[in-house]
Amino acid sequence: MHPTIILPGRTVGILGGGQLGRMFAIAARRMGYRVHSLDPTTDGPAGQVADVEVIAAYDDLDAARRFAAGVDVVTFEFENIPAETLRVIAESRPVHPAPEVLHICRHRLREKAFLKTHGFPLSPYRAVDSPECMADALLELGAPAVLKTADFGYDGKGQVRIDRAAEHDDAWEQMGRPLGVLEAFVPFTQEISVICARSQQGDVASFGPMVNVHARHILDVTTAPAEIPPRVERDALELARAITEALDVVGLLAVEMFVVGDRVLVNELAPRPHNSGHYSIDACLTSQFEQQLRAVCGLPLGDARLLRPAAMANLLGDLWNAGEPKWPAALSFPDVKLHLYGKHEPRAGRKMGHLTALADTAAAARERVLAARAALTD
Ligand code: AMP
Repeated sequence: MHPTIILPGRTVGILGGGQLGRMFAIAARRMGYRVHSLDPTTDGPAGQVADVEVIAAYDDLDAARRFAAGVDVVTFEFENIPAETLRVIAESRPVHPAPEVLHICRHRLREKAFLKTHGFPLSPYRAVDSPECMADALLELGAPAVLKTADFGYDGKGQVRIDRAAEHDDAWEQMGRPLGVLEAFVPFTQEISVICARSQQGDVASFGPMVNVHARHILDVTTAPAEIPPRVERDALELARAITEALDVVGLLAVEMFVVGDRVLVNELAPRPHNSGHYSIDACLTSQFEQQLRAVCGLPLGDARLLRPAAMANLLGDLWNAGEPKWPAALSFPDVKLHLYGKHEPRAGRKMGHLTALADTAAAARERVLAARAALTD
């Protein structure tokens, strides 16, 4: 493929105005690019740092055309952009990763079918579209199992764990969508992720594997490097690279995986920056956001190497329950960096920011970042 090179000084468009867009915009502006963001809400995390914040519904095709006309290349930070919107934009401007990649990854069943067809390892699953179908699938896969919506699911939303086969009707109702995927519960020892950046020239640079710990289905803490056997590390890196190449991604692909014994199974893909890569801003020579920028602009990738072991802890809206968190207390840890996303309303479970700690080992970084977070509400 001949790269379309978009040089510094030109304008990058980002669809989606959340924290991923904000950190992308910061990386882009640091390298001298102009940034336009598109999101339905005003004064959002990305819009606050973009040169131009376009406010429009994601399905407003006229707005999408005007947005495209004002930028040189388009990427996204949000997976639920309507296909029609991407199609309209792609008529006039390069979109990276390609709309086809998003089409596959935004829908769990399409994503799993893609992985299965290409022989990538994943846990057994069944598509379910009615309570009866769900009961049959549960008999086949056995309990425990996890029911997930086929689309519009993130951070554990639309996800129900089923411990006993008799719970199938309740679970179906709780999911509340017409199409779901029932997955066998994976007795994992660890959850890990790898984020691959792939350039228009086909070069790949990877972050990770990182170890991820979730709380209430939401990422809580990420540590890097992963303390896992070398073989698991190698398999995870190879698997993520192979999926990135099979999907022909230009940009980023985050691959979340389960470690089961010495095997690695794919859980989920995301063709965008990922929460488990936020540590890279402070701990890597090139961050995931800068890699996304370089890739979509047709430039060579940077060196993604980890400069120092690191740990990242998310700051959810719950931290605000008893008032404003005590920022000076966390900042009294000089090895801890604070990132806040400029969100106005601290709702429970909402990602408001994160802390990153650097230390001599991943375990020490984890201890520091948790201590700093605890200090916020002491
Ligand atoms: P997901 O939205 O698919 O990434 O799921 C969020 C979290 O739920 C995962 O990171 C796991 O901690 C847990 N989870 C999801 N699917 C399964 C599964 N099949 N078996 C065990 N845990 C799961």
